[in-house]
This record gives sequence, structure tokens and C-alpha cells, in this order.
Amino acid sequence: MSLFSAVELAPRDPILGLNEAFNADTRPNKVNLGVGVYYDEAGKVPLLKAVAAAEEALVAEHAARTYLPMEGIAAYDAAVQRLLFGQDSPLLDSGRLVTAQSLGGTGALKLGADFLHRQLGKSLVAISDPSWENHRALFEAAGYEVVTYPYYDPATHGLNLDGMLAGIEALPEGSVVLLHACCHNPTGVDLSLADWARVIDVIQRRQHVPFLDIAYQGFGENLQDDAVAVRLFAESGLPLLIASSFSKSFSLYGERVGALTILTGERDETAPVLSQLKRVIRTNYSNPPIHGAKVVARVLNDAHLYALWEDELAGMRVRIKAMRQAMVEQLQAAGVSRDMGFIQRQRGMFSYSGLSADQVARLASEYGIYAVSSGRICVAALNQGNIAAVTTAIAAVLR
Ligand code: PMP
Repeated sequence: MSLFSAVELAPRDPILGLNEAFNADTRPNKVNLGVGVYYDEAGKVPLLKAVAAAEEALVAEHAARTYLPMEGIAAYDAAVQRLLFGQDSPLLDSGRLVTAQSLGGTGALKLGADFLHRQLGKSLVAISDPSWENHRALFEAAGYEVVTYPYYDPATHGLNLDGMLAGIEALPEGSVVLLHACCHNPTGVDLSLADWARVIDVIQRRQHVPFLDIAYQGFGENLQDDAVAVRLFAESGLPLLIASSFSKSFSLYGERVGALTILTGERDETAPVLSQLKRVIRTNYSNPPIHGAKVVARVLNDAHLYALWEDELAGMRVRIKAMRQAMVEQLQAAGVSRDMGFIQRQRGMFSYSGLSADQVARLASEYGIYAVSSGRICVAALNQGNIAAVTTAIAAVLR
């Protein structure tokens, strides 16, 4: 008996398991739709031109690598706020905003979870049913009980708004409510402006704490429209937490670029909130890494690079939308009689295809096409070279 003999093997991560099965498949036409990454038309993870230009300028500087402040690079944090609230927002100078650079969107969620738990004693969070699979695990690891509110309606492939409102209403007063600001992962189903207004109303009445997760800003309509939930919540006067991720929008996955922003209720609350947030950071990883945030800050704070980035981001969005449209058309052409138009209505990188776990298993075994058993497919992994094979296979398993 040695110390670690009591440690049991953790359950396999379903997506990693999927990647292993995909890698082991020797069929040349195999396709991996299980990933959560944007691939370009050539099937590659792009390095954006705006990022490359910013990196070249940074390398030329040969700057020393001292420690950053706990809350990260000030120019980065300020740029994050402008992106969230709009560059003309009066909130920017309100003294009510705290932003800390974080280790991706995941790191931002963990900072927010720890802060709310340690400072306000929060221990109940509600996430959407379904949600990004790490939401539950992350909040549980932070000491929360995690419950769900209804979100997806399989019958319409759309939003179950009434269920969502009732679910949020029924939570104990003061619960933390986690919401996807845009491009919901995994379903691709988003709220309309009117839907948001009703959700905000319930949250306000029940004095819940809204925590917005925005990991796909720019993948829905554009950078401004995709921030509409953030801005509506801010206008409502509610205090608010926001977890930003630039992993996808800058194609900087491995650099871990994100931010936690807290909108306080009053100016006087801001300094204490920042001071306590810094303690959370200090006791987790002390201070954040430099490179990715410097790249993002440079792009966001330079008019030319910003325009280039916005253009490249639009290119990713338009390509995904074109793949959605092609999917719907090709499925119809392949004889699928049911209405698959919902694929075009869903937004962001993912679509809840409506395929059953059995159908997903058949896609893998018979066609070498891999997807998550929930039926979630990554539309951003489709391209002109593989889409015909994918739609033909989906049509066959739907038959
Ligand atoms: N939230 C959601 C909804 C996500 O889909 C993801 C990434 N898949 C994240 C947060 C985490 O992003 P990051 O990779 O920047 O940690």
C-alpha cells in the first residue's frame, strides 16, 4: 500500500475520448465534429493576421518579462470593458467597473465563482439545461451546488422561454444565475432582445446574481449586437459579473486570454471588490501571463489592427453561416424530409443537430464522422471539402 494507491481513475473526458477515437480511425475521409475550435476552409486553426502583426511588433520590442499586476495589463482590462459595454458607454468612466485579466474564459468563471463564494457566501448556482459541460464541474469544484434551469426545447430546436423564466423564478432568492450572453454552447440557441428583457425582470425581482459567460462575441451577428445581453443587464442597474474569453475570437486558445469583469452597484464598492478579487488571484496563481494579453491589447488599442481583426472575425462568422446554409440545403437535397432549417437559425460554432446518441454512434462507426453523443456538432469544423460527406452520412442515419 503506498500513498496514492487509494486514488481512483477519474472518469474519461467524453470529448477527449472522442478525439482519441478519431485519431485512431484510419479512414481518409474521417471528420471530427466533436471539437470546440474554429477551423478555416483548409481545415486548419488559423493564426489571425492581426495577431501575427501584433506579435511581430511585440517581438521587436524585446521587452523584459517582469511580473504583471495581479489584475493584469491595464490597457487590456480597459479594452475588454470597451468591447463589452461599447466605446461610448458612460459606464467606462463610472468608477463601477472592475476587470481582471484571467486564464481564458474558464479562469474568469473560476475567479468569479471563488469571489462570490468567499465574499458573499454564495453556494448555489443555476446553469442552463444543457450547458457547456465544464460549467457544472467548475462550480462544483468551487464549492457550489449546481442546479439547472430549462433552456432548450427539443421539439422546436429553439428556446424554452417559459420554462427558463419559471425555473429562474423558482430558485431561492439571491442565487447565482449563469447565462450564455450569445452563441449558446452546446445548442446554438440564443435569446431575443425581448426574451432578455423578461429574464432580466425575473432576476431583478428575485435578487439573483447574474453571471454572464461571453466566449463567442463576434460569432453571432457582430461584436456590438452579440454584447446586447451584457448591455441590457448593465442598463437594468443590476450588479453583474461577466466572463470574457478571446480563445475563439482571436484564435488564441493556448494563450489563455480572458477576463473577469464585475459591475458594482455603486462607486464606493469598487475598491473593496477589486482588493478582494486580487486576493482570489493571488492565492490561485499570483498573477497572469503576459504574451496573449499583450497581443490582444495591442490589437484592441490600435485602430488599424482592430479593423483588420474585426474583418477576420467577420470572415470566420460568415464562413460558419455559409456552412449552416449549405448543410440545410444539402440535407434537403439528400432527401431528408424533416425541416432542418433550425440549423440556420442557431448561432455560433455549434449546432444541436437533433441526432440521437445511436445515430451519432452510427456516424462514427459507419462513416468516420465523429460528434458528441448529445448530437452537438461543430459547424466550424465543416468546409467545402468535407461537407458533402457529412450531409450524406447524416441523411443516411436519419433515414
Ligand atoms: N464558456 C463557454 C460557453 C465555452 O464554450 C468555453 C470554451 N469552450 C469557455 C467558457 C472557456 O473558454 P476558454 O477556452 O477561454 O477558457
